[in-house]
Amino acid sequence: MLVKKAYKFCIYPSKEQETLIAKTIGCSRFVFNRFLGQWNDTYKETGKGLTYSSCSAELTQLKKEFVWLKEVDSIALQSSLKNLADSYTRFFKKQNKAPRFKSKKNQVQSYTTKETNSNMAIVDNKIKLPKLGLVRLAKSREVEGRILNATVRRNPSGKFFVSILVETDVQPLKKTESSIGIDLGITDFAVFSDGHKMDNHTFTAKMEKKLKREQRKLSRRALQAKNKGIHLFDAQNYQKQKRKVARLHERVRNQRDDFLHKLSTDIIKNHDVICIEDLNTKGMLRNHKLAKSISDVSWSAFVSKLEYKAKWYGKTIVKISRWFPSSQICSECGHQEGKKSLEIRDWTCPICHKHHDRDINASQNILAEGVRTLDLA
Ligand SMILES: [Zn+2]
Repeated sequence: MLVKKAYKFCIYPSKEQETLIAKTIGCSRFVFNRFLGQWNDTYKETGKGLTYSSCSAELTQLKKEFVWLKEVDSIALQSSLKNLADSYTRFFKKQNKAPRFKSKKNQVQSYTTKETNSNMAIVDNKIKLPKLGLVRLAKSREVEGRILNATVRRNPSGKFFVSILVETDVQPLKKTESSIGIDLGITDFAVFSDGHKMDNHTFTAKMEKKLKREQRKLSRRALQAKNKGIHLFDAQNYQKQKRKVARLHERVRNQRDDFLHKLSTDIIKNHDVICIEDLNTKGMLRNHKLAKSISDVSWSAFVSKLEYKAKWYGKTIVKISRWFPSSQICSECGHQEGKKSLEIRDWTCPICHKHHDRDINASQNILAEGVRTLDLA
């Protein structure tokens, strides 16, 4: 099956490459804003927009007037224009708001370039990009497939990234004849029917604490600057701290993403049938004091990774109904105890006397229910 995969890596451009990246971002923004201006004017006068092809022809003319546009990747400029045309199309279809001018002060600065005539490639630990040549890459995993496009991005922390979209042919994975149930918990990130627990909150909690501390420091810096009558844009201590906080946020995000990728791949490799609760509804029922936004985001990201990987590799995901009382049933004898409050972490079945860990028992029930619904289908 042909699928599209996205990869994101840190890149380490040289000083010259950094300058060229900054120029390309600047030129892409210039092209976007200039044609957006024309587009807006035309729209006001005629009620209609321009077309990509007419603008594209004009861009060629524009390069004669502004010769510095020729210094940068021409495909990036075309992409910027295409992006504008697409935004306007969506706006006319009422799918989004009218496109807005891009600002130098936007949090994330980026440009996108497309593959043509093998202008992009991964060469060892480097990526070949148009005009830039080879850029050092922190390649945390192998890139498989044909590169379709690449987006070069500079984050507020001053770090550079590349996102690569590839098209690749994936083969179904070998069947393992194994099924598993997963309970997405509160104390543990995930609890599995085979008895093991995945706890990711040790590192996120530690990072969160640090993040909170640095964020408080940031507000103090903002106040100091205000008291001294310095504009935040010129307050060096504030700006330095702002970059630090952005870097921390990024690290938390990357670590979490990495963790979820590895975990989901592992599960898909080892099991044919994966039974899981239907999250959309679980979110509504959960006690909000306990639920942290961070786990909400991770859970839905985790489930979506499981879902697309299952599709790619020929595995099955079974979602269990919200009404299924996974934590009320004894997985050993089937006796239904009734609702248990969240403080009860373990209990003994009054009928078969089996002692249960609350979450492992729930995941075993989820597995049994998943297999049952699958057999009915
Ligand atoms: Zn029992």
